[in-house]
Amino acid sequence: MIRSITQSKSEESLDGLLEGFNRIFILGCGTCVTLTRTGGEPEVVDMKARLEEKGKLVTGHAVVPVACDNLTRDILQEFGRQMEQAGALLVMTCAFGVQTVARQMKKPVIPALDTLFIGKETDAGLFDEICNQCGTCIIGETGGICPVTTCHKGLVNGPCGGTNHGMCEIDAAKDCAWTLIYNRLQSLGRLHSMGKYQKPRNHQAAPKPGKFIL
Ligand code: SF4
Ligand code: SF4
Repeated sequence: MIRSITQSKSEESLDGLLEGFNRIFILGCGTCVTLTRTGGEPEVVDMKARLEEKGKLVTGHAVVPVACDNLTRDILQEFGRQMEQAGALLVMTCAFGVQTVARQMKKPVIPALDTLFIGKETDAGLFDEICNQCGTCIIGETGGICPVTTCHKGLVNGPCGGTNHGMCEIDAAKDCAWTLIYNRLQSLGRLHSMGKYQKPRNHQAAPKPGKFIL
């Protein structure tokens, strides 16, 4: 299962973003942030209580099924009055949801979360970043392991000088990506792939902002 992985902004950061807004509508999402417990129903209810403790008026709150879906606007229409009364919307979803809402609403939209990465659930409750959509995929030559996301430095031409008995110099608890790649290629009888030079990233392959037209 692939999910947008988020973490809550610090209290201090959120206080700064909400400064001057005294009437707030809170929006959560029933998908990724519910799973990561950063913007589902319990977190939205908890946020409501925290804001009220700070003297803010919460005009309403809702958890829509999929905040990044364009249908969110239609669903939110039933909260029209409560949203109208609010000076700002506090959105407890990933940045996809925040931007979807911001494009649809004529109100200041404040993100309550930081979006970290798109993660695959590799164990119960454990999400790993496995791709950052670099636009020039090289995993055909690295045994199906992505060095861009697995290596702390995103190195694509072999390990740095810090790899230590197969572990990463930056996080000693983690396997060095290039040890994993070496072992995988060796087991596949494809160690010769290690010798292939990967050119510097071609940013034209994945221009920003990304667009895809059918
Ligand atoms: S090399 Fe890694 S980051 Fe780039 S497209 Fe392939 S999996 Fe994604
Ligand atoms: S030790 Fe390995 S995983 Fe860590 S930064 Fe160096 S090459 Fe990358």
